[in-house]
Parts: sequence; C-alpha cells; structure tokens
Amino acid sequence: MVRRKCPVCGNYSFSSVSQEAWNCQKCGCLLTPDLNEEERDGKD
Ligand SMILES: [Zn+2]
Repeated sequence: MVRRKCPVCGNYSFSSVSQEAWNCQKCGCLLTPDLNEEERDGKD
C-alpha cells in the first residue's frame, strides 16, 4: 500500500497500485508514481 499527497489540494490517496498514475479523489489531479510515500513504521 502506498500513499500520495495531492500537490494541488493536499488530500491523501491510498492504493496498492504503486507503479501507475491515479487521479486524486478530491480534485481529479493526476498523481504520478514519483509522489509515492511508502508507509513506514515508527516516527519520522
Ligand atoms: Zn487533489
């Protein structure tokens, strides 16, 4: 599971498809794979 933060509206989207672009559920902006944030354990 990867997370991407929309650069336009700041909404987080989640998907198991890490290699393809998705559209933001909120504003429809294209979220490309370079926006992937892997979920990590612990604190940053
Ligand atoms: Zn958005």
